[in-house]
Amino acid sequence: MTELAILLSQLPPSVAHLAENALRRIPLLRRQLDRQYDALMAELDASLHPYRGRLTAYSRLPAQGRPREEILAEMTTVQETEQRRWREGYVSGAVYHGDPAHIDFLNQVYALNSQSNPLHFDLWPSTVKYEAEIVSMTAHLLGASHTSDPVVGAVTSGGTESILLAMRTYRDRARAERGLQRTRIVAPTTAHAAFHKAAQSFDMELVRVPVGPDLRADVEAMAAAINRNTVAIVGSAPSFPHGVVDPIPELAALAQARGVGLHVDACLGGFVLPFARELGYSLPDFDFRLPGVTSMSADTHKYGYAAKGSSVVLYRGEALRRYQYYAVADWPGGLYFSPTLAGSRPGALSATCWAAMVNMGEAGYREAAAKILATGQLLRRWIEQIPELEVLGEPLFVVAFTSRTLDIYRVLDAMNARGWSLNGLHRPPAIHIAVTLRHTEPGVAQRFLDDLRAAVEHVKMHPTDKGGMAPVYGMAASLPMHGVVEELLRRVVDALYKVE
Ligand SMILES: *Cc1c(COP(=O)(O)O)cnc(C)c1O
Repeated sequence: MTELAILLSQLPPSVAHLAENALRRIPLLRRQLDRQYDALMAELDASLHPYRGRLTAYSRLPAQGRPREEILAEMTTVQETEQRRWREGYVSGAVYHGDPAHIDFLNQVYALNSQSNPLHFDLWPSTVKYEAEIVSMTAHLLGASHTSDPVVGAVTSGGTESILLAMRTYRDRARAERGLQRTRIVAPTTAHAAFHKAAQSFDMELVRVPVGPDLRADVEAMAAAINRNTVAIVGSAPSFPHGVVDPIPELAALAQARGVGLHVDACLGGFVLPFARELGYSLPDFDFRLPGVTSMSADTHKYGYAAKGSSVVLYRGEALRRYQYYAVADWPGGLYFSPTLAGSRPGALSATCWAAMVNMGEAGYREAAAKILATGQLLRRWIEQIPELEVLGEPLFVVAFTSRTLDIYRVLDAMNARGWSLNGLHRPPAIHIAVTLRHTEPGVAQRFLDDLRAAVEHVKMHPTDKGGMAPVYGMAASLPMHGVVEELLRRVVDALYKVE
């Protein structure tokens, strides 16, 4: 496989891709690949199925139901083990608040509303009220009071759904108003994978434009990628990989000049960046204050500190939002409509989101942002002081770093061995930590630094350690092996669904 990778890497990318697809179908190579996959999957096996042999595995319904107390007892034990890493601040992102009193409060709100479903707005008008207010509160955080256009939106199940909906909305508007059949989205390479998913799901073309040396969107290159089919361009505030904010004012001006939409993905930054400037961080406008910004996404289930399963998609003007709705008047099941992709929805999650927002208030979010941004800057300075490491771009609260001298994925593995769960990145190879409130607790940042120093020393002493994610990332980094790694990822998903 290595020789194959080297051979393929010498071909131009488009040829390499075709060659790779053809080669993967040659029986001998196919068998070799399968052996490699099996070996990699065997290595991941234990981490994918830690409960094998320890908990009962149900491949069929138990003949008789298990007693509630027994189920609760088992889940309590499991939760106690699983919460250790995130609660003690060993995890990048994932749990953004995590304070026990906050979680208890959310759980109480969930319990009160557990049967609610906003599809039945007549039965649960309270949930409808919560959702309208979540949208309005988020819109006002993101500049709605500084524009005369109404900023409207919807509550969705997460950042991915917010982005899917926004992209489909632009497509459907272009179909209806411009008669466009083929539609194009222009996004920087650093835009979230959800934009690829949207393009794939809704049969749109996604042009991925390389970013500049500062890892921010290259406005000129984005301009060059806009054609007559283009319905929207994308900017991130900040980007998931490197936590840098794209030049949104320039992108907004470009979008306006070319008559296309601009979606600002603030899934990550929506509840932090609005406070950054007043806290002394330099940051240009990134929201609806800029007339060219026509839609945004902001994840309430990240730095909005709601429970997982909620996000907000926002639009400039009612007319654009209307393309998102679904309505049918000739279905035997009755007059039916839904604002988002789902039909029935967990109203309890919206109630929980509303409660988190109203409980935090502006002051609560500001205070949390101050702590998170300060910790981000602290980590950034500390990482910069480790000679083997290099911080990428100008990070705020997601800090990405690489190494010129070490295999950064071995550093990732060495951090993993010390209990940390950080994110691997590629192009360029790097890792990142998304700072949450967990990392602002006393001692956590210092422990990160100590462990990172130790991990770097370990990799220097043992540069050829085997195992972990390093070989997989290494393989993915060689462009022609791209399809091979995607196939591996699909096998990982298969493995996750295995009952063991
Ligand atoms: C998390 C994230 C998303 C996707 O959100 P999910 O809630 O995981 O679906 C999109 N964009 C950015 C910048 C993100 O950080």
